[in-house]
Amino acid sequence: MDIVVGTSNKGKLKEIKEIMKDTEYKVFSLDDLNLNVNIEEDGQTYEENALKKAKEICKLTNKIVLADDSGLEIDFLDKKPGIYSSRFLGEDTPYNIKNRKILEMLKDVDWNNRTARFVCCIACYFPSGDSFCVKDTLEGYISLEAKGENGFGYDPIFYLESIDKNLAQISKEEKSKISHRYKALLKMKDKLKSYKFI
Ligand code: IMP
Repeated sequence: MDIVVGTSNKGKLKEIKEIMKDTEYKVFSLDDLNLNVNIEEDGQTYEENALKKAKEICKLTNKIVLADDSGLEIDFLDKKPGIYSSRFLGEDTPYNIKNRKILEMLKDVDWNNRTARFVCCIACYFPSGDSFCVKDTLEGYISLEAKGENGFGYDPIFYLESIDKNLAQISKEEKSKISHRYKALLKMKDKLKSYKFI
């Protein structure tokens, strides 16, 4: 059975293909289908954004579609930037500037109040109109300084207690086995199994 992943991001696609490889699903990307879609993320929640993307791509392809929305929630900033993570300080602003700004905003905040999490919500939309969402998180802290060269986005300022490192200090392979996206994808795979397609 075909499943379309609503992303052109090669890294995300690889992760999803890896997870789905022992199922009956054949995973396609938007590029595989020569589709170039640009869907405005105007929802108020991760779920709304992910579902909107999945639904619109399902309408175009008539296949089962997975689409995700993620973000970084910083408790001291009332869970911001959250769904606005990529738009924080402007979409085109480099992440070293976004990260520096966050460190400044948390300058006098003590360790216990620097808690944060990456959130990933994945929506699945079926041509029948059925849909569901799964969500998972990766809990950590905003570190006192940026560390590491790997990863992307807010990885350099996100400290993970279990490995005593910032996310940008570990390899892509290591990250892909602990990330919020990986955890949400495992949930998605489980849910899909209960649809008895697998
Ligand atoms: P997306 O929905 O996966 O495109 O993620 C939205 C935004 O959340 C990204 O542009 C990043 O700012 C942030 N983000 C999501 N996941 C991660 C991650 O694993 N590391 C760093 N930043 C992330």
